[in-house]
Amino acid sequence: MQHAKTGHLLFTAHRPDLVFSRGKGSYLWDTSGRKYLDCINGWAVNCYGHSPAFLAKALYRQTRTLVNASPSFFNETMITFAEMLCEASGLDKAFFCATGAEANEGAIKLARKYGALKKNGAFEIITFTNSFHGRTLAAMSASGKAAFKPLFEPKVPGFIHVPINDFDALKKAVSAATCALMLEPVQGEGGVYEVDPVFLKKAAALCREQGVLLVFDEIQTGLCRTGALFCFEHYGILPDILTLGKGIGGGYPLAALLCREGLDIFEAGDQGGTYSAVSLSMAAGISILSRMRADRLWENAARMGLMITRRLESLAARYPLTNIRGKGLLLAFDLKGEDTKTFVEVCRGKGLLLNSPQPGVIRLMPALNIQERHIKELFTILENVLKEWFSRT
Ligand SMILES: *Cc1c(COP(=O)(O)O)cnc(C)c1O
Repeated sequence: MQHAKTGHLLFTAHRPDLVFSRGKGSYLWDTSGRKYLDCINGWAVNCYGHSPAFLAKALYRQTRTLVNASPSFFNETMITFAEMLCEASGLDKAFFCATGAEANEGAIKLARKYGALKKNGAFEIITFTNSFHGRTLAAMSASGKAAFKPLFEPKVPGFIHVPINDFDALKKAVSAATCALMLEPVQGEGGVYEVDPVFLKKAAALCREQGVLLVFDEIQTGLCRTGALFCFEHYGILPDILTLGKGIGGGYPLAALLCREGLDIFEAGDQGGTYSAVSLSMAAGISILSRMRADRLWENAARMGLMITRRLESLAARYPLTNIRGKGLLLAFDLKGEDTKTFVEVCRGKGLLLNSPQPGVIRLMPALNIQERHIKELFTILENVLKEWFSRT
């Protein structure tokens, strides 16, 4: 056990008594030198694993050129990255910030601005139960996560939560006061639940008909994670507003809000931030997105995702592992009724980092460039743990 001197850190999370000091590719090392196969990856952030050399090079080069010219000036890198993202997504305008929650704040503000200017003051935003949109107060208010409900009251008003995939409930919730519908195409923190594609098509049509903006929070599903560059490609639906984060900086703090031309409606002072579109983060984004497109990284995510799914299915024949689900490399399964928090700890003790976003749920978020040998290693450990776990009880 470590004797970590963590006393000066404000408590915000239960963390194991380990300190990580190094990462390379799909592996992390703690200060005692123990190596872990990482299927959390900074929370689905390190799409190319830890410290990819090309990203380190791009960041270093940028630190020698320009780090931050000021958010009140244009800089070369912001122009390049906005153009790249718009070209890749089919949307027209980009705003950059540092975290996903901030990108969603921007989306919420833009939707309200749209309601104020173009829809007679409509301000209500519909979101789904069990959704997660971040930890600023407005993003927590938008989230349909049950555990957030009693926290930090009073919440930001104007959010209506409807059950996922319930079209009648959605239809009932939409009114003249609705300015937007905001959703994750696959709920990530909620436990990896995909929105039903048929429901999504109907919801998109309803939004169009009612002049309600469709906002996709692709902070977790975007940038190759689900086996396509953007998850919306799976459904053939282009949202009005798209938020991106996590994988977009390959580990460097970066997030973005994209929207269509007609939503370029903020006035000076409405939106911004000291760290908006700083050159250093833009360099990270440019290098990650160029590399993804050159590698067609979404194809590896789809292929490896399928391989993991098949191996999970074969485990399910021998162990009570159910509900294998997800898309690409955003995957989960259930160990119903099991203490998955402890299960995750046992895996960690054997050198495998996994996440349990909900009781009874195990989620896998490996790097998007993982190879078959990593999957073999993952299943060697996982099967070992399962064998012990179910012979013990
Ligand atoms: C992680 C996440 C966020 C919040 O992003 P932060 O960078 O942690 O602020 C918002 N929405 C979804 C879907 C996420 O997965």
